[in-house]
Amino acid sequence: MKKIGILGSTGSIGTQTLDIVRENRDLKVTALAVDSNIELLERQVREFMPNLVCVYREDKAKLFKEMVKDLPVKVVTKMDGLIECATESEAETMITAMVGMIGIQPTIEAINAGKNIALANKETLVTAGHIIMPLIKEKGVALLPVDSEHSAIFQSLHGEDRKKAYKILLTASGGPFRGRKLIELKGKTPKDALKHPNWSMGQKITIDSATMVNKGLEVMEAAWLFDMSVDQIQVVVHPQSIIHSMVEYVDGSIIAQLGVPDMKLPIQYALFYPERRPLTAGERVDFTQLSQLTFEVPDMDTFFGLRLAYEAGRCGGSMPTVYNAANEWAVAEFLKGKIEFLMIPTMIEKAMQQHKMIANPSLKEILNIEQVTYDFVRGFTESGL
Ligand code: NAD
Ligand code: MG
Repeated sequence: MKKIGILGSTGSIGTQTLDIVRENRDLKVTALAVDSNIELLERQVREFMPNLVCVYREDKAKLFKEMVKDLPVKVVTKMDGLIECATESEAETMITAMVGMIGIQPTIEAINAGKNIALANKETLVTAGHIIMPLIKEKGVALLPVDSEHSAIFQSLHGEDRKKAYKILLTASGGPFRGRKLIELKGKTPKDALKHPNWSMGQKITIDSATMVNKGLEVMEAAWLFDMSVDQIQVVVHPQSIIHSMVEYVDGSIIAQLGVPDMKLPIQYALFYPERRPLTAGERVDFTQLSQLTFEVPDMDTFFGLRLAYEAGRCGGSMPTVYNAANEWAVAEFLKGKIEFLMIPTMIEKAMQQHKMIANPSLKEILNIEQVTYDFVRGFTESGL
């Protein structure tokens, strides 16, 4: 029996992870953590019977305790509760599937407690890769990527000498606005931006795909995971999302991983690695039905959030935190209808321009820079610029 915890169990990755648990009787869930969706959490708790759950929002946690008082489950709340969940004693692997920088502290504590990490939460590595990667080594735990591109790269590196990898080809669908020019993105609404052509995901990452900031975060995430510079990672727009990413070796050979766009595949691969389990439900790639696989250069003038990610990644230190925090804030405001679509990358740019980079920020400094950046972009929005 393999015991796992899921941080962010009510989200897109969290619920798909539970679908996999349902199909694999040798997986047992011992801890679940969510922000506030207690109705869905109750159904999950009754079905999977974890030992411990965290409801981050305190008011909701109080209500939740009442809802499950007939069950032998401990309910905790806030950051202390989230950390208690991340370090739950029986869990061997933590799936970090919460959205945003809130994932940093619980991930660090899970590693400190000797848990293997199945990493979906890309914001953690983008902002705190310099803390997480050495800690993973020191504690001797596994860090398995869940993001489909990173899983593809990981699979394409399998059994190879990593030093012989020349570059990574990171594929991108291009999102709902692929092919549009800057002027055409003016006035785009959350409804337009939430229409992803291939992937069904949480709201924040879907907006990030529309701005291509998601790809920017993935470039920085890949640099940490595979010990490369951001300039060794080339984004290739591939609208069909069949090739999930590739590795080019020094001899010119390219190894790719292909599959239908279904997150269950990389989630399951991370959960059972190095074993491959059957994935029964869902479609498979039928090469005779594929009319074409196409590739384009990303338009970094229109999707300048992607260009800024390379700049943040090259700069390093605290700059990726500024990039990420400005984006988190801007996406939330855009979803509330308070700012324009193009203000998202503009805010990232302005926040980066005014930031004085700190070379090796501590966790405390990262969390402080997050708040300072939020304050900056808030002020920027309120001044109506
Ligand atoms: P989502 O919005 O669907 O779900 C987020 C989950 O995080 C929810 O369960 C929510 O309750 C939980 N959460 C949020 N704040 C929390 C808090 N303070 N405490 C505890 N739980 C909290 O998001 P998602 O699409 O599943 O994405 C999750 C992460 O995985 C993101 O970092 C995203 O970039 C990454 N990712 C997602 C996909 C995908 O297909 N959805 C693919 C690759 C990577
Ligand atoms: Mg991805």
